[in-house]
Amino acid sequence: MSASPFKVVVPESALAGGGHTPRAAGEGVREAAVALLAALQTTLEAERLVALFADHLMQVVPHDGLVYVNEAERLAVRRGRKARHAASYRLTLGMHGLGELTLQRDRRFTEEELAAAEYLTCHLMYPLRNALLYRQAMRSAHEDPVTGIQNRAALERALRREVELARRHGTRLAVVLFDIDHFKTVNDRYGHLHGDCVLRFVAQRAAACMRTTDMLFRYGGEEFVALLSNTGAAGGARVAARIRRAIEDTPCECDGARVQVTVSLGVAELHEGEGPESLLARADTALYQAKAGGRNCVRLAGEP
Ligand code: GH3
Ligand code: MG
Ligand code: MG
Repeated sequence: MSASPFKVVVPESALAGGGHTPRAAGEGVREAAVALLAALQTTLEAERLVALFADHLMQVVPHDGLVYVNEAERLAVRRGRKARHAASYRLTLGMHGLGELTLQRDRRFTEEELAAAEYLTCHLMYPLRNALLYRQAMRSAHEDPVTGIQNRAALERALRREVELARRHGTRLAVVLFDIDHFKTVNDRYGHLHGDCVLRFVAQRAAACMRTTDMLFRYGGEEFVALLSNTGAAGGARVAARIRRAIEDTPCECDGARVQVTVSLGVAELHEGEGPESLLARADTALYQAKAGGRNCVRLAGEP
């Protein structure tokens, strides 16, 4: 088994002015650390923090490349290029891993440079921890805890952005709004936990019918929205039909019981000059028509 290439960096002693302080590197490193700390206070965005860190580090320890990877957060920041020599650090605060940082350079790093890099890295760690916590908080604020898909707040943001992009680039945009049929009966007959299981089933089946660039949201209680960029009414209707069939054709198993689930769907394509509210309202009217037309079917929205 080969030894890990990562040196573990624990900031406490350096920030308390303890053993890590690179005396040999002198006053310049301490000044760089103060400037770095001030810069790191300007953002809560992890990618931006790492970029600021790289810029400040460059002044003290010139390097050809810097890579920060946090696998748990699916976050990677790469600057510069690969080079022959590497100095790798595993960033750790208490029990929490904050990711791994690697510096690269064609010329070997000196001991003094490594001490300086380590000292500055210690100053990155608390701001980075806060940025990662912020990132997690933002994610959970936009995630529906029952189904794991994005929630209404995320939909509102995404829809505004997609409408704006479609307008600017002259591309098409379709929404599919769908609602579980007779969902109240499922709750009444089997209880709310069963209801939650059905919600997860519908989210999973619908997601499986969509492209990776499409987005799926839980809009309300048992209502979902699929947002389909570069897609018109006909394409939207095709996706809606696929979702309808996939849900009807697959038995939904919850806690040993089989529940027959169906959904009704309304499809609308964005028209010129139309805003997000009107687009959703038309999809909602189409959904209402699908309910009135007997449920378990798709209806296309009329003109705005
Ligand atoms: P329809 O076919 O007309 O859509 O009938 P429905 O029973 O699905 O619709 P209705 O609007 O009458 O009732 C929606 C029900 O959805 C009410 C409530 O029991 C259930 N519901 C809403 N949100 C949740 C939730 O988060 N979890 C669970 N388990 N049930 C929910
Ligand atoms: Mg319903
Ligand atoms: Mg409903």
